[in-house]
Amino acid sequence: MPHNLPPDATGLITIDLDAVQANWRALAALVAPAACGAVVKADAYGLGAAPLLLAAGVAPVLSSLAEVEEWACEAFRVGRAVPAALQIDSGLNRLGLSAAEVKALAAKPEVLAALDLRLVMSHLACADDPSDPHNAKQRAAFNRRRAMLPPVPASLAASDGLMLGPPYHFDLVRPGYALYGGQAFRGGATPVSPVVTVQARILQIRTLKAGESVGYSATWVAKRPSRIAIVSAGYADGMARALSAASGKKGASVMVAGQRAPIVGRVSMDLITVDVTDVTGELRRGELVTLIGPELPIEAMGRAAGTIGYEVLTRLGPRFVRRHTGGGRI
Ligand SMILES: *Cc1c(COP(=O)(O)O)cnc(C)c1O
Repeated sequence: MPHNLPPDATGLITIDLDAVQANWRALAALVAPAACGAVVKADAYGLGAAPLLLAAGVAPVLSSLAEVEEWACEAFRVGRAVPAALQIDSGLNRLGLSAAEVKALAAKPEVLAALDLRLVMSHLACADDPSDPHNAKQRAAFNRRRAMLPPVPASLAASDGLMLGPPYHFDLVRPGYALYGGQAFRGGATPVSPVVTVQARILQIRTLKAGESVGYSATWVAKRPSRIAIVSAGYADGMARALSAASGKKGASVMVAGQRAPIVGRVSMDLITVDVTDVTGELRRGELVTLIGPELPIEAMGRAAGTIGYEVLTRLGPRFVRRHTGGGRI
């Protein structure tokens, strides 16, 4: 078998750490003099956080008064202030101290003194859309609420918000998705490059006569003699069933031997079926086809599946072998 994959692996996810670093540098240059962080939640967006996490002594982000008080107790236990970042809500109504909680905290100097507060942050709800009035409203609420707290560095923007321009950069931006090559912002191109290639194997090539169907519920019928590649990734691997072709709807595309080819029939648990009739050249069992890559952006698969690229990335299953390339020091 080529490519040295274990026989039970669905395929290969290649993560170019040099590209992650280049993306970080591009974003850091864009937002200077603000600093640029790196968000690695959800196991670095499904790509593997361990090779990306260099930092020790990281400060936890405290997102409620209860968390603040628990962490402050830790400070009393160790006898010194403990490093912390504080998340305050500015209108997303997800995590973060409410306005009332910020006020309550501001009235507890002994709790504040227990924290070595390094950052006050909040998160935007609608930053992918530059015309959304939520953005300015949240920014104003953030400024009002953080004014009640000690004057520490502030952070509001993630991958999309940093594209809203300098008024949203504050001291630090917190990109996640953009580091991994994602285009979160709808108002223009984020200056980052693809990081991830997702590939799966051709298990078989079948020949169909006109009139024969492919897959469950026989949703796709060959209009001409056809060649179908059976590829080793399905919805159990994160290839959404919504990528299926149905009557009147083309399936999403993949790249086979450098050529675009449509998914036909239903995506099944472990397999997709791809019409390779028009792909030129000899195709071989074991060959890798590309599901996500430079010509097949994460967002395109998100749209085709009725979701967003973030969900596509973080759902890529554990049966893909993850291989990290590059990655010298920044
Ligand atoms: C996920 C998240 C980020 C990063 O978001 P991206 O859109 O991936 O850049 C930043 N801040 C908070 C609070 C988050 O939850």
